[in-house]
Amino acid sequence: MRVSTGGWDIDVMVSGYPGKSTVYGGLGWSTMVLLRGHGRAVVLDGGGYGQRNTLHAFLKERGLTTLDVTDLLLSHAHNDHCVNWPMFRHARIWIGRLELGWALGVPWGETPVPEHVVMALSTWPTLRLMEDGETVLPNITAHLAPGHTPGHLIFVVHDEERDVILLQDAVKNRAELISRDTDMTYDPKVSAATIAMVWEMVRKRPGSLLVPGHDQPLVVENGVPRALGKHTAGIRAWMGDDLTTVTTFPLA
Ligand SMILES: [Zn+2]
Repeated sequence: MRVSTGGWDIDVMVSGYPGKSTVYGGLGWSTMVLLRGHGRAVVLDGGGYGQRNTLHAFLKERGLTTLDVTDLLLSHAHNDHCVNWPMFRHARIWIGRLELGWALGVPWGETPVPEHVVMALSTWPTLRLMEDGETVLPNITAHLAPGHTPGHLIFVVHDEERDVILLQDAVKNRAELISRDTDMTYDPKVSAATIAMVWEMVRKRPGSLLVPGHDQPLVVENGVPRALGKHTAGIRAWMGDDLTTVTTFPLA
């Protein structure tokens, strides 16, 4: 999905997946967005380690390499969103001040925070810390949206016609937005307040687009969120006796 808003060409390179594996834990297939405009090329989150090649390929399709990216915005410090910052180590790396402080303090080995990755980021020369309500780039403001993590930020791209709200894991999928119930929250009430804040943003700016961290982009029509794309996920597996025998399992 591509839209132009606030002087930015917003390109949802990868729409995250709203599910987990049945046996092997979370998939961590998360949304990655490219924003081009105002003389900058910005990536929102960089997915997990398994998405590195995907990210290179999607940038290449758009005539870019990681070296062309001027800014990496990190929504929060979970492994499926922040581990790939070293792919953009020449760019400015943005993360919320509160989020970084929290992530540096979590007990090691007990959360989805990639501890060493966050520690290395905390002393990186191009690190930029964001505050709640800050205009971090032209027409883009960061808003504190806790619940999934304490310092999670969402980003609102402002325009006279409509806003684009980059939710990432503050509201991971359409089911969370509609039900106001959340998976993977440290406090359901805090998450519910964040979702209420998002609904209030949508009420004030009808027609705004919502980009969740693990689902297709959404537009709200008459109060009902509608997906703008279709999932194309699947798994290829070697279940036979050789590598040419491949079974594909669609996950859409
Ligand atoms: Zn997360």
